[in-house]
Amino acid sequence: MDRICIENLEFIGNHGVFKEEKFLEQKFIISVRMETDTRKAGVSGELESSTHYGNVAEDIEKVFFSDSFDLIETLAEKIAEKILSCYPLISKVEVIVKKPWAPIKKHFDYVSVEIQRSRNIIYLSIGSNIGDKRKNLEVAIEKISKISNTKIKNVSTFLETEPFGDIIQENFLNACLKVETLFPCEEFLNLLLDIEKDMGRIRDKKWGPRIIDLDILFFNDELYQKNNLSVPHPYICERAFVLIPLAEIAPNFIHPLEKKTILQLERLITRGK
Ligand code: ATP
Ligand code: CA
Ligand code: CA
Repeated sequence: MDRICIENLEFIGNHGVFKEEKFLEQKFIISVRMETDTRKAGVSGELESSTHYGNVAEDIEKVFFSDSFDLIETLAEKIAEKILSCYPLISKVEVIVKKPWAPIKKHFDYVSVEIQRSRNIIYLSIGSNIGDKRKNLEVAIEKISKISNTKIKNVSTFLETEPFGDIIQENFLNACLKVETLFPCEEFLNLLLDIEKDMGRIRDKKWGPRIIDLDILFFNDELYQKNNLSVPHPYICERAFVLIPLAEIAPNFIHPLEKKTILQLERLITRGK
């Protein structure tokens, strides 16, 4: 991927944990390397097709002076967040914050923090089978759209499906969403679990009736396997109520483990091909 870089921007400021650092100013050196496709701008010569590095530098300065951060980790995080939220053409950013006068009684060039952050694309499956199911899905979508640094990019049609498992319960209404967020996967799942709780979800019987269920199907093409986080969601390939709405909004997305497109997986389950 092409990159636009700003190397070694210097500022004098007051970031640090020690109280002396809050009034004794010191030097900070900041670099950013932004991944973006420069081809269009390179061929057309139009600045609108690219990212204005002058504006980025101004924004870094604004973040730098917006507060006195204890940690350069926080400063780096805020700069990455600012760039990804304000410059839509940047898909990934590396931020390096160097602190050459850090309070260490040794000879050294600088201490630094280097982070990489990216815009994440997530596919979600949402479902409800208690009360006003359509309303429940709409409320959940509204709540997801209000998560900071998060945008809903697409919503499938709502699909009514019969429940599975042994419990006799009402039909489900299901849908899939495409969401863009700056949150990492585990943090985003916790935000979804908070929304479920807010909406009154009670977990008692496995696969029992629920006011709202919010599952992460895919997080970019990344794999997670921990106690409370399994991505891609393990049952995608067996569930028509997931694959049918997902095929509507992401037909060409390739399942990172199955190596098949969503459309291929949907056809396998609905037509048995
Ligand atoms: P299923 O996983 O078969 O769809 P379910 O959605 O009914 O079942 P829940 O009771 O809603 O299961 O979730 C149980 C736990 O699964 C949650 O507390 C959550 O931490 C965990 N979990 C792991 N991976 C995911 C994921 N990809 N999306 C949502 N929850 C997940
Ligand atoms: Ca589920
Ligand atoms: Ca769930």
